[in-house]
Amino acid sequence: MNYASSILGLLPGERRAPGIAQLTAKVEAYLPAAETERVRAAHDYAAAAHRGQKRQSGEAYITHPIAVADILADLHMDGPTLTAAMLHDVVEDTPSSAVEVRERFGDEVADLVDGVTKLDQVQFKSRKEAQAESFRKMILAMVRDIRVIMVKLADRTHNMRTLEAMPPAKRRTIARETLDIYAPIANRLGIHSLKLELEDLGFHTLYPQRYRVIERELRRARGNQREFLPKIVKALRKALADASISGQVEAREKHLYSTYTKMRRKKLPLAQVIDVFGLRIVVGSIDECYRVLGLVHGLYKPMPGRFKDYIAIPRVNGYQSLHTTLFGPNSMPIEVQIRTEDMHRMAESGIAAHWQYKSGEHNGQAQQARAREWLQGVMQLHEGATGSAEELLESVKVDLFPDKVYVFTPKGDIMRLPRGATCVDFAYAVHTGVGQRCVAARIDRRMVPLRTVLRNGQTVEIVTARGAQPNPAWAGFVVTAKARAAIRLYLRGLQRNEAAQLGARMLNQALEEFQLSLRALPEGHLDRAAQTLALRDGRELLEKIGLGERFAPLIARRLLPAGTDPEGSGTPQPLAIAGTEGLVVSYARCCFPIPFDPIVAFLSSGRGVVIHREKCANVTAFGKQPDKWIPAVWQKDQQRLFCAGLRVEARNRVGILAEVATRIAAEQSNISHVNVDAQQGELSTLLFEVQVHDHAHLSRLMREIRAMPDVIKVERSLA
Ligand code: MN
Repeated sequence: MNYASSILGLLPGERRAPGIAQLTAKVEAYLPAAETERVRAAHDYAAAAHRGQKRQSGEAYITHPIAVADILADLHMDGPTLTAAMLHDVVEDTPSSAVEVRERFGDEVADLVDGVTKLDQVQFKSRKEAQAESFRKMILAMVRDIRVIMVKLADRTHNMRTLEAMPPAKRRTIARETLDIYAPIANRLGIHSLKLELEDLGFHTLYPQRYRVIERELRRARGNQREFLPKIVKALRKALADASISGQVEAREKHLYSTYTKMRRKKLPLAQVIDVFGLRIVVGSIDECYRVLGLVHGLYKPMPGRFKDYIAIPRVNGYQSLHTTLFGPNSMPIEVQIRTEDMHRMAESGIAAHWQYKSGEHNGQAQQARAREWLQGVMQLHEGATGSAEELLESVKVDLFPDKVYVFTPKGDIMRLPRGATCVDFAYAVHTGVGQRCVAARIDRRMVPLRTVLRNGQTVEIVTARGAQPNPAWAGFVVTAKARAAIRLYLRGLQRNEAAQLGARMLNQALEEFQLSLRALPEGHLDRAAQTLALRDGRELLEKIGLGERFAPLIARRLLPAGTDPEGSGTPQPLAIAGTEGLVVSYARCCFPIPFDPIVAFLSSGRGVVIHREKCANVTAFGKQPDKWIPAVWQKDQQRLFCAGLRVEARNRVGILAEVATRIAAEQSNISHVNVDAQQGELSTLLFEVQVHDHAHLSRLMREIRAMPDVIKVERSLA
């Protein structure tokens, strides 16, 4: 079993750095020869790459990757992890390219190195607690493979061990980051041994004075305990033996940082935290855990309210044990942890326990599967036991297999967005006002389209312009509720404006039949007419007409002053379509009307007006609702582009589609959609949606396509 050693008594820097020979011996003991050989090859490669480079301490640089691999070997991590550890600084710090690492050591190792390099590029900038939590999540979100985190944690551990060589300010920054970010990540993943070391090293750097005081007191307390502890341990061992339970009883070391935080958290004087014995009993089965609990409670009186059953209700990181506190000799409190061997391995190594090399498994997939199993196992422990499975899912699974992205603002604040979020989502997340006025975005200082999907760790900057307005197209790609709601609200306002304008034109057109116009109506007349229809005012009535919910000719008749001939001239004026009506006028996709096709307008309730070609089959089909159709004409000088459907029959040969498309582009027309219809032997039918200004433009285009050698027939498609 791999009991993690305590670092108490070993000041930073006292630890001797391992050499490659020691490391190889350690690795050989649990990995097959081929894996060991690859680690050694990685060492030789890294040693050559780092040749001449020195650490701040003056040591050769290669001592660092060896030490990192050594830390991971203590955790019995697999071959690719150790190999990647050896190479983790090669790509960033030396001329060796990522490509070369991939060629020599394979994709698995190269991907791990790549992951570590990417992590090194994000910088923790703010010290706020909420920021720290987000940053931790971002780090976890960035890794697809948990082994990347393992290498990073080991890297950080060695850097912390050798921190003395750094200038003081830098030392504090790194130590702060270690306590805020990396130790909690190690804890979250249950890698207890690294967590403890990172904490104590960070604590030593940030608060050297407090560290020394606690250290001195701990040594003193251990001196005092020397008198009682062996007796207690002996009594417990005997109790276990009498009950025929085999297990280990051992004293637990107190760690400096956890002593310090406990003191602060519980607002206790140092002596009270320190003068507690810590004992651990490791047995074979869960059943034995509970039996041992009974035994120790029989031996010493338990302190009320201190028993915790973390076997039935595990901690969020999967930690399991029974905790109890006893009154020992002289009423000295004894804290006891009781657990099985499996639980112990879990408590020490956490997720790493499931990445440890097991013979017969030579691929990362099996281990990925095991890591997932771990997560699932942890989740199952929680189900039923506490009902907090969802909370756990939120805290563990979401971290490792995330559906969130974490990005920075230019000031270094972290924003959390759902996966798939774009620059526009980011802009709205910063502030609705920023969203409404955004015109461009920079990611990591490079200009990108606003629709660009964000990735973890990027810094996003939004460019706004006064008077800029949301683009209706954004509604098609934003993913956050906030952005979607704001854009929809804006579009609804826009649509109502456009609807009111169109409604006014339609009503004017209907009034013309009676030689009347809106302007000629008496003041307040329209508002009063609206109110008789239970509408707020004339403006709302115009909106309703524009949206196709009210029928302009009927409204016109209501507005007639007494004495007007209700029959009118009998020849309704056509509605003039300008092409600039916006959302309330749309163009039917069954017949693709373009200027200056003969057209009719269909009133579609709530959607406004849909323009069809007179020839369109749907016009006849809808003939049963004559009051929904109104005559329409194109205004002169159309500015926009319209979609038209083209059906091209051509000889079936390679490249014909591209040739036709090129010809279309040459005629200054965009292709918005292409479809190749069933290929009937010699011939194939190509269906294009092209954008043209008007009929003349389309005719020119068709003529050009028809002139192509392999084209048999070109026609405008109609429904
Ligand atoms: Mn490093």
